[in-house]
Order: sequence, then structure tokens, then C-alpha cells
Amino acid sequence: MKTPKPKNTAHPPNFIGNIIAEDLRANKYDGRVHTRFPPEPNGYLHIGHAKSICLNFGLAAENGGLCNLRFDDTNPSKEELEYVESIMEDVRWLGFDWGDRLFYASDYFEQLYEHAVQLIKDGKAYVCELSTREIREYRGALTEPGKDSPYRTRSIEENLDLFERMRAGEFEDGSHVLRAKIDMASPNLNMRDPVIYRILRAEHHRTGNKWCIYPMYDFTHCLSDSIEGITHSICTLEFEDHRPLYDWFLYELKLYHPQQIEFARLNLSYTVMSKRMLLELVDQGYVNGWDDPRMPTISGLRRRGYTPESIRDFCQRIGVAKRDSMVDIALLEHSVREDLNKRAPRVMGVLRPLRVVIDNYPEDQVEELDALNNPENPSMGSRKVPFSRLLYIEGDDFLEDPPKKFFRLAPRREVRLRYAYFIKCVGVVKDEQTGEVVELHCTIDPETRGGWAPDGRKVKATLHWVSAAHSIEAEVRLYDHLFLRANPSDEREGGDFKRYLNPNSLETLTSCRVEPGLKGATPGSRYQFERLGYFCVDSVDSSDEALVFNRTVTLRDTWAKIKKAENR
Ligand code: ATP
Ligand code: MG
Repeated sequence: MKTPKPKNTAHPPNFIGNIIAEDLRANKYDGRVHTRFPPEPNGYLHIGHAKSICLNFGLAAENGGLCNLRFDDTNPSKEELEYVESIMEDVRWLGFDWGDRLFYASDYFEQLYEHAVQLIKDGKAYVCELSTREIREYRGALTEPGKDSPYRTRSIEENLDLFERMRAGEFEDGSHVLRAKIDMASPNLNMRDPVIYRILRAEHHRTGNKWCIYPMYDFTHCLSDSIEGITHSICTLEFEDHRPLYDWFLYELKLYHPQQIEFARLNLSYTVMSKRMLLELVDQGYVNGWDDPRMPTISGLRRRGYTPESIRDFCQRIGVAKRDSMVDIALLEHSVREDLNKRAPRVMGVLRPLRVVIDNYPEDQVEELDALNNPENPSMGSRKVPFSRLLYIEGDDFLEDPPKKFFRLAPRREVRLRYAYFIKCVGVVKDEQTGEVVELHCTIDPETRGGWAPDGRKVKATLHWVSAAHSIEAEVRLYDHLFLRANPSDEREGGDFKRYLNPNSLETLTSCRVEPGLKGATPGSRYQFERLGYFCVDSVDSSDEALVFNRTVTLRDTWAKIKKAENR
């Protein structure tokens, strides 16, 4: 089965697409394009992985090729089944399908072992008994060559015997390693006799206790690509210096040879993108799990209300480059805003309710007023919202003593209630002790039903509102950037990235009021709360009894603003 193509995955031309096009013209791999996405199951996927997923699956789909999902599971001490399952869920949710091509590097352990034996037989690998520390010392530095290990000259027979005994469990963890015999004076440190097998007694989530030796990443990765017939092995820039080693293994073993191509990883402002750091935030309780809506993980973004379409759109906009850079998180927010603007039904919800009594409205009267579900998309129709004498409006839409530029409600001022009436504030009730405004008295102009005055008079503000008796209570969680610094993990700064955590990244409001139509709203469904932003029913904590919303993003588009300023 060919890799199917979700709607918006076409990439603008990029250098990798150009390489593939050139290879297709030259018929380099018999016209095949076969990529793979190779996560290590040691954490949840983040938005950086989404870039790689869109790129690998996207390039395959655009070129009539295939893309595999392969777990690079060679490090049993850090890997778990939970991660494997979450990764599959996230790739599927993003809209990609690996068909019947789900693979695990651990499926190749036997083959990899045979390849290692072959290297020994060819005099290209040896068993070394230096400690980890000694191996590091012998390796030398960028400016000085390394020193040969005293075990480098062992005979092939002795190496074969020792390697077999490593596998059989005769030696302690860490006491022996298998190393490639390349060049201790190579200017590339990766080529100074890298370790290719180590002894590690750890239960593997797939192979159990079958193995006590495990292949290293560099050795495993190129051979797995080769076994699967990958044509273009796309990876991030930090592997550029590993490419000579990748090529060396395949050349020495005379195996089918995919081409490794490196691209710049995604860095996003005001967050961190390394699984090690994300795990630290989860383990130490700085966030509520991998799917905390503040996390840059796919599961966090999903719970926050992001759509797969918006993430694919974002990945397309950022493009693919050969140089590292930092992408403004405002662009990600812009992508979801654009998507939800077209799709999310609009509703009214009040986050910080202020009671309003309509003095000239009968106590027992209720009107059902027409409200549009999405003015941008008339096909989404309309709904009825109840209006009555007792309402709630947003607390910060009223000021008793407004400054010049404040056009919302104030004493003696008239404003519009969306889809309802013009109202005028005629009285203010305050808490005697605190002086806080607790209730407003207003009157409506009955002639303005629907929100328009027949005499053509204008008002300067339109407020959202709900009917007190009909509205339902909800909890709303407002999120801000997880970090205060654009680049919290900048190594030049030194120190711990966690000191830049934003202490106000989550604000929980528990007595919000939303319109009655939201009763029983499905977890995961998304709405625009008029004037406030996009909100998503929380998929974990929300229930029919207690509605919980996450704010996905506000309506203020800082990205569009930046772009406008740049073009001026
Ligand atoms: P991390 O550094 O976050 O721990 P990783 O590179 O170790 O990530 P892997 O599971 O090995 O994570 O990554 C799987 C694939 O995703 C690799 O091909 C890797 O190059 C790619 N990838 C990881 N992080 C990013 C990123 N920030 N931008 C683009 N691609 C990424
Ligand atoms: Mg990795």
C-alpha cells in the first residue's frame, strides 16, 4: 500500500525534495522513494518530531513512495511500552499512516549480531576491556589524536570467542565492549573506534531478557535503514558528523546503502524541545504529565485544542533548512487560530462573571434570540440563546471610572449585548466592605432587539453575556508560555533551564458561566468563546457534571501583527 496523503501536506520546494527529484530523474534507486520516521520510545513526541513526521511521510506521499514507522529501541533502560503506544497514537492523529510497515530495531537484533560477527571476521572490530572512562581518555580531543587501545590487536579468533561470551552473559555489565576498528587519529571523533555493542542486563520491552548485549545507536540505525531498503534517511543536523560512520559500516559490510540527509531541527521559542528536559518537567511535577496542555508535546497540544491540520500547516510554513534557527511560537498559535476561525462554532462564555439586572425587563420573561454559529461560515447556521432579566457579563467589560480609550460599559453609557439589545448602565451596587462592584443595574431599549437601533444610533462596544438562570457553570484553564525566556535551554547561559519556568503559566477559573447549549459538550470539541479566544473541552477532566475548558489560544494574533509591521 502506498503512503496515503492527508490533505495539506504538500511541501513548498525544499532542498531535500530537490535531492529526491534529482535521484528520481537519475533513477538512482530504481525510481523508489522510501523514507522512515525513527523515534526512540523514551518519551512522548513533541512538535519537533511533528516536523520530521510531516517531512518523511510528506516526501514519500508526494513522490508516490513509502514511509515506515520504526522504533529505534536499542536502549532498554530508558524505553517503555507506554511511549511506543503514545507515539503510534500521535502519528495517526497527525494524519499519517504507516500501513503494514511498523518496525522495531529490536526485530533486527539477531541480524545486527551477525553483522558484528562479520566485522570481527574481517578484522574490522575488536573486543575492548578498557573502562568507559579510559575509552574516553584514549579517544583524545578535537585538537589531538587518540591512542590505540591495548586490546586493538587481538586476534580474530580471540575476538570471536570473547564476543560470543559477551552474548552468553559471561561478563559483567560494562566490563567489555565491541568496537569498530577504524582510526584513532581521525579528525572526526566518531570514527575513533566507536563502541558498537555493550553489555547491559536490562529487560527490553520486546525482547525481554533474551539479550544482555545491545547494539549502539549508530550501528543499529544505518543497518536498520539498509535492511528496510530506505532510500533517503532523513535526520537532524547533529548526525552530520555521524554520516562517515554510517557510510563506513555499510561499505565495510557491503550492504545496500541508503543516503543520509540532514536538516535543521525545529526550535520553538518559550519552550524546550528535548525529551530529557520534558521528562524532567513531568517527573519532578512541574507540569501535570506529558499531555499537560502547556507542554510542546503532540499529546499536550491535542489536549490544548490544536488540530492536526493546524500542526501540519505550521510544519509546512516553517520549511526545511540546513541551518539551525528558532521559530516564534506565535507562528504556531497563528496556524491554529486560522484553522479554528473557519471551523469552531462561536458561543458565549463569561470567565469572570459580573451580575447585571435589567430593571425594565419582566421578571418571568425569557426570550430565545438568534445567534450565528460562525459569521465566517454561514453554512454553520444559527442557534437560540436565552435572554432574561438577570444576566452575567465579563467583569472587565465594566469600569466605574473609565479611562479615555475604554469603550465598554460604564455608568450612563450604552453598549450592545451581542445578538440581543442595547443596554445602558443606570446603577452600580458595591460590596460595602471592599468597595468592589458586585452588580449593575441596566435598562434595555426594547426597540434594539437583535442588536440594531432603528434610529441608526451607534454604540462603541459589543459585549458577550449569558442569562444567569440558564447558563451553566464551567471551569476554564488559561495558559501562558511555559517559560519566561524565549530560549530557556540556551547552553551559553549555563545553569538550569527550569529557573526560567513561568510561575503563571496556568490560571484556573472555577466559576465561569457558559451558554446552556454547551451542556454535555463532547470532550475534545472546540469553540470560539466570542471575544475571548478558542477553547477546547478537556479530554481528561471534563464530564457531564463538571465542564472543563482549556483555552487553546487567545484571539490576539501577534504573528499577523509582526508580519504587518515588517511589511510596512
Ligand atoms: P530529543 O532530542 O527531543 O530527545 P531525539 O532526536 O532524541 O529527540 P528521536 O526519538 O531520536 O528523538 O527522534 C526521532 C526523529 O525525530 C529523528 O529522526 C529526529 O531527527 C527527529 N527529531 C527529533 N527532534 C526534532 C526536532 N526538534 N526537529 C525536527 N526533527 C526532530
Ligand atoms: Mg535520539
